[in-house]
Amino acid sequence: MKLITNGIKGTEDILPGESYKWQFVEDIMRKQALAYGFKEIRTPVFEHTELFNRSVGDTTDVVQKEMYTFTTKGGESVTLRPEGTAGAARAMLEHGVYNDGYPIKAYYLTSCYRYEKPQKGRQREFHQFGMEVYGAPSCLADAEVICAAHSIFERLGVNDLSLELNSIGCEKCRPNYHKALREYFESKKDQLCETCLSRLDRNPMRILDCKSPVCSEIAAHAPTVLNYICEDCQAHFEGVKDCLAAAGIRYQVNPHIVRGLDYYTRTVFEFVSNDIGAQGTVCGGGRYDGLIEELGGTHTPSLGFGMGIERLLLLLESRKIEIPAPPVCDLYVIGIGDEAKRRAFTIIEGVRNASLIAEGDIVGRSIKAQMKYADKIKAKFTMVIGDNELAEGSAKLRNMETGTETIVPLNDGFFEHFFAAYVENDQSGLLQQLEEMKG
Ligand code: ATP
Ligand code: MG
Repeated sequence: MKLITNGIKGTEDILPGESYKWQFVEDIMRKQALAYGFKEIRTPVFEHTELFNRSVGDTTDVVQKEMYTFTTKGGESVTLRPEGTAGAARAMLEHGVYNDGYPIKAYYLTSCYRYEKPQKGRQREFHQFGMEVYGAPSCLADAEVICAAHSIFERLGVNDLSLELNSIGCEKCRPNYHKALREYFESKKDQLCETCLSRLDRNPMRILDCKSPVCSEIAAHAPTVLNYICEDCQAHFEGVKDCLAAAGIRYQVNPHIVRGLDYYTRTVFEFVSNDIGAQGTVCGGGRYDGLIEELGGTHTPSLGFGMGIERLLLLLESRKIEIPAPPVCDLYVIGIGDEAKRRAFTIIEGVRNASLIAEGDIVGRSIKAQMKYADKIKAKFTMVIGDNELAEGSAKLRNMETGTETIVPLNDGFFEHFFAAYVENDQSGLLQQLEEMKG
């Protein structure tokens, strides 16, 4: 039969055999977020379009070219989130989370949507892990979020990404820089792309982020922002660098980094790899002191980053970093005959209640096929229950790795015997699971 349709271009399915890789990475992200004092925030996949126009900025590629915007049946314009910060900031304001006091530290693990040209490391639906801090002006906060991102890479065994750091100033010093940029780009006006021409007046910094080869070549020789930032921004930037140095984190100042979204001020940073092709930026972030005001709140120094999970997985793959295989079935029970099948079923349920993995046949396989299947799923133990076993009240528990068989009672005492055999077989595994259950 022909499929009615395929998945949408630029989207990817994460299939059951692959999802453990995502879970592994996400688990590390959650643990590190917790260690840094961040709690999870979940916001809707769509928001009023105006939210992104205002926060991301209407001279950015994201707003001008990449948003999935549509009109609802009720006539409202809504947009699928292209990034995680705007929704988090909106929710924080809407629910007055700041009444609980600053700083507010939140993280998200979420899907994002951008209508881009799909290629390796660039999709239309992709996933981000992000951290957000609200109400923290100190350079220690900048260093903290950078260290948090860094710690995730370290935990994953990626320790050679290049951390590129820059400061793009504040509302006080930005106008001087804009003026210098405008003068420079005016002189190259005839070579700039249409979009950049339209940005020249309103936001010349956006031209620095243009992906067209001609514009980026021109941008490479543009005046650099570090020559224009004010004393306060300079001092803040020095503070960030000092903290990073104190934490032993290597960085490179890259005056060309401006980031693709309008809301950034002062610190901006990217973690970049050369191993995953052209889309080498795995994580990007910085400070956005003006964002909350832009959304109608009071002045709230804020910052954060977004990390692309697809790009991170590509990176792990390119480095051949092994992701631990998911746990396998602990016990596969075969029941022969109706009563034995019921007994098998209750044993399986009991083992599952003890947080181990147990399975039995639900597709109607023959006994031989079930044996093969138990082998295929790498079950650690198998047990066959038939009329004889029911009559005797005991069955043979087979350790599939060693081939040893132990007689275990089927009624009272099954679990003690099973666990004893289990511990003997895989002590570290069980202990680890017990630890996790306690945790
Ligand atoms: P790029 O310059 O590669 O387009 P960006 O500046 O638009 O990136 P951000 O908005 O900063 O990206 O998003 C943070 C991170 O999310 C990026 O560093 C990247 O890892 C990931 N990301 C962004 N867009 C995509 C996409 N279309 N597909 C996959 N990952 C993406
Ligand atoms: Mg982009």
